[in-house]
Amino acid sequence: MSELGDSRPESTGPPGTPGSGRAVENAVLIVEDQPELLRALRINLRARQYDVLTARTGREALALAASQPPDAVILDLGLPDIDGTEVIVELRRWSKAPIIVLSGRTSPGDKIGALDVGADDYVTKPFAMAELLARLRAALRRDEGNADPGGPRQAMIGHWLVDLSTHRVTRAAGPATVPTTGPSPADPGSPPRPGSGGGGSDLEPGETLRLTPTEWRILELLLPRPGQLVGSAQILTGVWGPGFRQRTNYLRFHMARLRRKLEDNPARPRHLLTEPGMGYRYQP
Ligand code: CA
Repeated sequence: MSELGDSRPESTGPPGTPGSGRAVENAVLIVEDQPELLRALRINLRARQYDVLTARTGREALALAASQPPDAVILDLGLPDIDGTEVIVELRRWSKAPIIVLSGRTSPGDKIGALDVGADDYVTKPFAMAELLARLRAALRRDEGNADPGGPRQAMIGHWLVDLSTHRVTRAAGPATVPTTGPSPADPGSPPRPGSGGGGSDLEPGETLRLTPTEWRILELLLPRPGQLVGSAQILTGVWGPGFRQRTNYLRFHMARLRRKLEDNPARPRHLLTEPGMGYRYQP
């Protein structure tokens, strides 16, 4: 703690996403039960334009990460409820965001244990704020380097604009496709009147939709590759891990939920397509 006596922000330091040209700030989740340390971290990160989320317990951290997926996590191991190592294990079930452990535990066994379950770096307390910030920047750079293939970060699915950078799904202002939702498809005698608008959709433009972390992970793999087949094993490995290559039932379940949320007609998807026996394809 002695290094943290002065919590004034340093005068220099790059913004959250150096060189990326995007205005989106990196969101960092800080999990720490010491109030003064939590405060010092928050002040220093905010001063560098990070979007800061904080939690004081492991369970609070997991709930927060699920509702607002962070780009990086700074994690204390000694937490009041569950151990920080358990938090790493749970996060790694769905998140690839870099995790930097910040702990008073200095034994090699503790470090190895945390790194083995999925932490990316380990900083021991007491620590110098400048070093922690440098490690955070390095972790985010590495993460950016491993990121998706550089495809589009926004995609339309029916009426929904899906933004992979901000994790927002917004109802588009105008209809992307004209829904042919005649009230009585069994009656061929009355053609749909042009201009009568999509009958069934009473959603307002700008309305937002919530997706789960798992659903976002699936879309992260599909949407940047418009028109391409993405194999089931690739998605299962990317979302759940290498031990899940065969669990195609997981994928069917979550794809069905995504279609119910995003497709105009989930029974006849036009954008989230199944290639039987092979995988899935995002068709713009
Ligand atoms: Ca602690």
